[in-house]
Amino acid sequence: MAGSVEVLLHGGMVMVFGQPWDSPACDGATVVATPVGELCTGLCGETISDGDRGFIRPHIGGDTGRPEEDVEFKPIHAECDLRNVLGHQFGICGCAADGGAGRDNARRVLALVNEQREAQGAGPLW
Ligand SMILES: [Zn+2]
Ligand SMILES: [Zn+2]
Repeated sequence: MAGSVEVLLHGGMVMVFGQPWDSPACDGATVVATPVGELCTGLCGETISDGDRGFIRPHIGGDTGRPEEDVEFKPIHAECDLRNVLGHQFGICGCAADGGAGRDNARRVLALVNEQREAQGAGPLW
């Protein structure tokens, strides 16, 4: 989807797709169309489906030497991003015997984060 992000709601530099969730990362984010069928750049190995939530991040993938032309915008599921950032503290990461990959492990991190939030009196991320 290089250069073909459909903006639904203009906001800041952060781009999200799907229903925004309770994270500062979503505050003022630019909401774009869900990139159905694009491969998630997280560790799940799955493509993006309608109803998923996540981020669109820029990757430098071309070879023109001009970053503004080489940039490709690629999706990552919100839970896969959460696993990348917080998985280690729950033992769900590359340090674990099973590598912590897969969508189920990403969803486990989300569930564990939501458990912590509940214990702190906060609602779920989503
Ligand atoms: Zn994913
Ligand atoms: Zn780790």
